[in-house]
Amino acid sequence: MVEPDASGKFSASVCLTEDDIPGAKLPKASPEECDCWMLRCWLQCRGGRTTGKKAVLVQRVKDYMKINCKLIDPDRGVNLAKKKVRLGLCENISPKSPGEFPREGYNDDLSDVPVVDYNIIWKFMVQNVSGKGTSTAKLLIKGYNFFKSGHVVKLEKHLSEDGVCHLRGKILPSMKKSTSYTAFITLRDSKILRAKSGCPAGIKGHCSHVSSVLFFIEEFCEHNAKNAACTSQPCTWNKPSRKRKVDNHPIHQVKFVKHEHGKKK
Ligand SMILES: [Zn+2]
Repeated sequence: MVEPDASGKFSASVCLTEDDIPGAKLPKASPEECDCWMLRCWLQCRGGRTTGKKAVLVQRVKDYMKINCKLIDPDRGVNLAKKKVRLGLCENISPKSPGEFPREGYNDDLSDVPVVDYNIIWKFMVQNVSGKGTSTAKLLIKGYNFFKSGHVVKLEKHLSEDGVCHLRGKILPSMKKSTSYTAFITLRDSKILRAKSGCPAGIKGHCSHVSSVLFFIEEFCEHNAKNAACTSQPCTWNKPSRKRKVDNHPIHQVKFVKHEHGKKK
């Protein structure tokens, strides 16, 4: 049982397993069947060197398998922080007065969430915000990067009888990885009615955390539109794949990369 200690901080030792770190598990039955990229990911999660040709990598993986070595987080703690958030062991900051957002009744089935596109996000984040000039565009870039780097840890939906959809997300901010923020968004017919986040800038929801959740939904909707067989679980499509190479790099290597919206890599 984990309780906050006297200082209000949560302390717990959480161990990462292969399921917690993308690339930590070999996707094929044997190292020989894997390609170099898979082998490098696997080695990186164990602090192993990733240089050399395939034969060298295969041998190195086999050597590491024999010693059953400890997993390390190649993303400088992001995977560990995500696990802590999932387990409820991470300090979370919710908006002080969630007011119009329901407190209960959320579930993680996103299958019939209203469609969100870039236009809707832009309108909410940039167009409808007066007097802030270009700085609001930064929220879009920052939010998009948060989403692309896997900082949206949890997302749940609450559908009211009148067709209003409330979203509740947990987002890891960039620096303080021991704390996550909760963001609320209310949508009706693909229009953003209101939003709020637990961060200091999130009173009206014009912050990077709310925008990261919106980009998450946008890509989710886009994905579902392309795939007739809908999936209700974001985790089944938001897993890094080879096509989305950048997600599989440790954060410290990609932090200067600006993900450009609309550009598929
Ligand atoms: Zn925020």
